[in-house]
Amino acid sequence: MSPLDLLDIDASLGEEERQIRSVVRRLVDDRVRPHVAGWYESGQVPARELAVEFGKLGLLGMHLTGYGCAGASAVAYGLACLELEAGDSGVRSLVSVQGSLAMYAIWRYGSEEQKQRWLPAMAAGEAIGCFGLTEPDHGSDPASMATRARRDGDDWILTGGKMWITNAPIADVAVIWARTDEGVRGFAVPMDTPGVAAREIRHKMSLRASVTGEITLDDVRLPADARLPEAVGLKAPLGCLTEARHGIVWGALGAARDCLETALSYAGTRTQFGRPIAGFQLTQAKFADMAVEWNKGLLLALHLGRLADAGTLRPAQVSVGKLNNVREALEIARQCRTILGANGVSAEYPVMRHANNLESVLTYEGTSEIHQLVIGQTLTGLSAFA
Ligand SMILES: Cc1cc2nc3c(=O)[nH]c(=O)nc-3n(C[C@H](O)[C@H](O)[C@H](O)COP(=O)(O)OP(=O)(O)OC[C@H]3O[C@@H](n4cnc5c(N)ncnc54)[C@H](O)[C@@H]3O)c2cc1C
Repeated sequence: MSPLDLLDIDASLGEEERQIRSVVRRLVDDRVRPHVAGWYESGQVPARELAVEFGKLGLLGMHLTGYGCAGASAVAYGLACLELEAGDSGVRSLVSVQGSLAMYAIWRYGSEEQKQRWLPAMAAGEAIGCFGLTEPDHGSDPASMATRARRDGDDWILTGGKMWITNAPIADVAVIWARTDEGVRGFAVPMDTPGVAAREIRHKMSLRASVTGEITLDDVRLPADARLPEAVGLKAPLGCLTEARHGIVWGALGAARDCLETALSYAGTRTQFGRPIAGFQLTQAKFADMAVEWNKGLLLALHLGRLADAGTLRPAQVSVGKLNNVREALEIARQCRTILGANGVSAEYPVMRHANNLESVLTYEGTSEIHQLVIGQTLTGLSAFA
């Protein structure tokens, strides 16, 4: 048992949940940890290769059923996200976007033909998906999106652009959200459709082991059956975000755990003033506060995961988890960085990489401010969004 598990939370996990967790932990130890600092420094990650390996283990769309998906519980999926993000938030993002955003959108809102066409290949990691909601001028306020879809006979014509889209440059299919005369609708857009282009966004200082891109849609002609028939209104993409945010509630704790384990080990061997820095009261106060927050975060994640498995999880509850766990994980990463002193800024240790990654995690899938507004609306009955 990890010394971090102060509250014996491990004991409340089922046997299958623990097994899935150790399989993913082993995979991360073998396949991610030895290489991730290099991927991060170079900004190049073998995402397609990783996707195939993750697919073999059933990690892609693992909480979905049918179509080659594993049908695991929400808690098992959360534990997998935690272990993946202990490797790197970018690697977890690859899995989240594939499973919880792109695959979930097709699984939940798609036609039988769309599901048959995309989901088995995506579950196997042979086809990569992305999810295009954010635009250059519309992030927190997707209701104002400028991307349009208009009818031309039976076809649809899509025009516009999406920004900051994870996996876009390597994707085979994009789930694109666009405004129509009847409101927001979703489309499964093969990336090789004429008029679709994806450009990689470079020079990121965060999530560098993840491929991010911009998509332009220049009079893209799609057949009628490219539209996701069950996706009606903005609540459809928001439903996908609730799925993915649940994974982030767990994932952020993985990054924080890796920072804590690294700092504990470092503090035990780093000697100043004739003794290990772990023996100083100020260092112990930091560790105590961080461990308390980490355990509270895990209890929260487990509670939300159990609600998801019971089918009762509400979006505002996911906002509580995303706001708290990412904010605390980032605080833990920054605090651990101080414990490593100068070594804390080196890529030899994972701490600063996690801290930088968590800056993106804080912003995507709803910024902290947006989650505060969701919770504020639940508490007061008043919307303060606009
Ligand atoms: C690495 C990375 C990967 C991403 N991947 C994807 C992806 O795969 N698909 C996708 O669709 N998007 C993706 N995003 C985009 C992400 O979801 C958006 O960046 C996010 O929603 C915020 O939008 P914005 O950046 O336009 O910021 P803005 O909406 O412009 O917000 C800027 C600031 O203003 C604040 N703000 C905005 N409105 C309010 C308000 N009403 N009250 C108070 N404060 C407010 C925000 O909280 C924030 O602090 C990704 C982003 C990053 C960094």
